[in-house]
Amino acid sequence: MAYKLGDVILSRETIARRVKEMAEQIAKDNGTENNLTFVGILTGAAFFLTDLVREMPENMDVKVDFMSVASYGDGTESSGVVRIFHDLKSSIEGKNVIVVEDIVDSGLTLSHLLGLLQNRNPASLKVCVLLDKYERRKTEVKVDYCGFRIPDKFVVGYGLDYAGKWRHLKDIKYVVEE
Ligand code: 5GP
Repeated sequence: MAYKLGDVILSRETIARRVKEMAEQIAKDNGTENNLTFVGILTGAAFFLTDLVREMPENMDVKVDFMSVASYGDGTESSGVVRIFHDLKSSIEGKNVIVVEDIVDSGLTLSHLLGLLQNRNPASLKVCVLLDKYERRKTEVKVDYCGFRIPDKFVVGYGLDYAGKWRHLKDIKYVVEE
């Protein structure tokens, strides 16, 4: 089956506004004395994370690290299998960690990942997602910061891909059958 781009679900302006609000909330909750490590889940969340951290106040001690995991093949359904391709560069022991993910769907990827990171004894572990497809949840995940709740339809853009395509779009769009 072939797919093409559909309507815009979230415009670049709407995304930018919400990302700023989320950064303000995170800054408010964490204070300047708390050093924060933002852990981005590659590849999708890299786009969101880089915008998010640039909205954090200059006087905050902000660090950035990345991890690469995969739970999806080239299709649109979760395989439920999570593999680590690339681990963090630095230890998170005793750190205040915010895991940044592009989208939470079944929750399988995040819950697996959170279990793994919790075992490394961070001082705190929070979750920040841009998009939440809450209707699709198969396992409970505590989402501390959520950008937008969206319906159960496949979306691309702003880091989100379909079979490696369309990550570079500035707006988030639906994908529809050709
Ligand atoms: P979960 O384990 O929560 O089911 O899956 C999370 C991962 O599924 C995300 O990191 C993302 O890679 C992928 N995913 C889920 N829904 C969508 C979607 O609508 N569009 C895209 N591009 N990826 C999605």
